[in-house]
Amino acid sequence: MKIRKQLPKTELRYSRVYNQILNPQFKRRDVFKLKKKFSKFERLYKKHIKKILKLIEKYNDKWKRRYIFIYLVDKAKSSFSDPLTIRYNRNEKFLLVVLAHELLHNNLRRKWKSKIELHKYMEPILNKVITKLSINLEKELIKFNNSIRKMYKYQKTKKIK
Ligand SMILES: [Zn+2]
Repeated sequence: MKIRKQLPKTELRYSRVYNQILNPQFKRRDVFKLKKKFSKFERLYKKHIKKILKLIEKYNDKWKRRYIFIYLVDKAKSSFSDPLTIRYNRNEKFLLVVLAHELLHNNLRRKWKSKIELHKYMEPILNKVITKLSINLEKELIKFNNSIRKMYKYQKTKKIK
């Protein structure tokens, strides 16, 4: 019997079929281009994923999931949490914030009245996770939080930290 619960295993996926579902123009050869586009993000991901998972557990809840696939796509309406899908952005630091947010969705247990309530709950947790990383993502975090508030149309309620 294991005493210590393990962090989920995560894996980056570059799926041609999945990309084609989201974007019918996506071609077989585009998988290679996609990997290249995400290469800077992949480096950041490798460096920080363990810490992100640990911090989410620390500030939110124990992980129940054992595996989380992370699909990297060129085009989509947005990034989303299930299946965890990250839409390309040229700023790899911004993508790391997006990833932490979508992972946090996968760690949540409760149900919320609305997406607004849910995201209001998530924001201070995400802020704590991001500011504890060994990389400065302050600008990207502000940009991300603003985009979420704009998407769900609510005002900033709490100060960061
Ligand atoms: Zn969200």
